Formats: sequence, C-alpha cells, structure tokens
Amino acid sequence: MSSSVVTRFAPSPTGFMHVGGVRTALYAWAFARKNGGKFILRIEDTDKGREVEGSIPHIIESLKWLGITWDEGVDIGGPHAPYLQSERLESYKKYARILIEKGFAYPDPYSEEELAAFRKQAEDNKQAFLYRNHRPEVFGVWDGTKPLRFKIPEIKSYKWNDAVRGDLTAGEEALDDFVLIKSDGYPTYNFAHIIDDLEMGVTHIMRADEFIASTPKFLSLYEALEITPPVLVTLPPILAPEGNKKLGKRDGAKDILEYREEGYLPEAMVNFLAFLGWNPGGEKEVMTPEEIIANFSIEKIHKSGAMFNDEKLLWMNKEHIRLQSQSKQLEAITPYFKE
Ligand code: GLU
Repeated sequence: MSSSVVTRFAPSPTGFMHVGGVRTALYAWAFARKNGGKFILRIEDTDKGREVEGSIPHIIESLKWLGITWDEGVDIGGPHAPYLQSERLESYKKYARILIEKGFAYPDPYSEEELAAFRKQAEDNKQAFLYRNHRPEVFGVWDGTKPLRFKIPEIKSYKWNDAVRGDLTAGEEALDDFVLIKSDGYPTYNFAHIIDDLEMGVTHIMRADEFIASTPKFLSLYEALEITPPVLVTLPPILAPEGNKKLGKRDGAKDILEYREEGYLPEAMVNFLAFLGWNPGGEKEVMTPEEIIANFSIEKIHKSGAMFNDEKLLWMNKEHIRLQSQSKQLEAITPYFKE
C-alpha cells in the first residue's frame, strides 16, 4: 500500500473510553503505522447535549497509556487544524452552501407541531414516516435559524463494498432527507464526518457496525458532493462473555483506565484488544505492539463478533509480565505494595 494512508479516530466526548472505542483507535492506528501513513485524532463534539466534561483529556490519557500515538490531532494541531468539530463550523457552512447552490439542500420549513402531525398521520396510515414525502416544492432561503436538510438526489438502492464485510446493499427505505446542520448551528454526525474526512484526506474509515444502516445516506452525500468515499472498514461487534449480545456496561465494558488501576500492562491490553476481532493467522498470540503493527492487515479482520473474555485478558497480562525485564517488573508492582 502507498504511503498516503490516512486513518482517524473520531470519538465523541460523551464519557470514558471503553474497550470498543479503544479497539477502533487501535486498528486505525496499527493500519496507519503498518503502511507508513498518518493517524489523526479528531473530536466529534457537535452534540452539545451529550457532552461530558473531562472526556477529551480522558480520551487522550487513555490512548497515551496504551502507546497509541497520533500525527495530527486536537491537542497537537496539524495541517488540517482545528481537529475539534465545534471549531470547524465554517467548513461545514462552506459545503452546506455548495449543496444549496446545487439544489441539494433546503431549510426545513415546518414547525415542531407540523412535523408531529406528519408523523402521526404516517403512524395512523401504518406507514413509515419519511421526511422526503413532505419535501417543499420551492426551497426557502436558509438563514441558519432552521435545520438545513439534504435533498436526497436520487432514491435508489445502494450497493457498496466494505473492506471487511464485502458487498453490501440497502434499499430505498434507508434514504430520507436528513438534517445536515441543526438549528443550533452545529452539523450532524452524518454531515460533519464526511466533510472532515474529505478535508483531512482520510483514506480508510474504521468504525463500528452501527454505521452500516446509515451508509446509503453517506453514499448519497458523497455523490452529491462528487467525492470518492474513503475505504469503509466495518469492525466486528464486541460481544458479552455469553456471546449472544453486544458487550454493555454491565458485562464489563468499563473505563479503559480502570484496567491500568487494576495492574494490567498497556502492552497486554493492546494485544488482547487487537486479537478481539483480528488474527494474523498462525499459533502466535502473544505479540508486542510492534509485532501487531508488522502483522496488521484489514484482510485478517473478522466479520463476526468477537467475545470479550476476562480470563484471556488475565492470561495475556501474565504473558506480557513474563516478557518484561526484572527491573521493569519491579517498577510495575511497586505501587501495589503499601507502606
Ligand atoms: N463520533 C462517532 C462516535 O463516537 C465516531 C464514528 C466514526 O468513527 O465515524 O461514535
């Protein structure tokens, strides 16, 4: 692969980092490092209602503990600064204007009450509510006080390739005139990440499978903006130890820094998380971060869910302690001896 690989980790500052988020960061980082590319840390803070104070330093501390380093990002700047979405509003406006000019965006003309009535009407008719059924014939002028909506250029079925999942399709039902910019002036995730990835030159998007359902929306926006989408890389879900549901807080999806407090080594955590949905093949399971990078490839990411297993993590930790020199071991256990 060429040296132009650019990946990013783009968390929302809505709380602590859990294993799922860390694994996404880890794969994006390992892939960039393997290919001599760049890894970006972008913060997606456009949903002000969900923001949790202290999340950004917490994200940074978590990644640093694990040894995941970035080349551009919110704390260090870079050629595409700023890396905090709330500071990038001018960029989103610029592309919003382009879409308006092309006839692909319009201000939402309805009040909350009118929309509620449309929803009720659809429900009474046992139909799914689709905003595009109420699209105004003549578009008003957008003054920023109303949400700006995307006019889906063509209602059609989409086929696309995901580097992990293969060929995927979704029908017309996935497409509706979604909001690009909310009435508070902030963009939606659907819009902002596309603009940022474009401006930051992102070549590969690694993210969780919850975004597959929205991919036709993203594709219609890429089309309207006449841009080639990055390679889409959907990561497998992390499953609870019982294996029949996604790992939630109750099943141990805790703050990654709690593992540090419990005495886990960052190398063990990185190794454990890397193998949660990826395996380079062969017998070797205990790997240093350098070995993980050297072996990393998208082709070896699994399609199906990976089960979280505490015992495996404990075992991994023991193996990594064994790999350490005696002086490092002593240094690591010292905090656990009380005076
Ligand atoms: N801000 C999104 C989240 O935290 C990131 C999704 C993406 O990587 O595009 O879920």
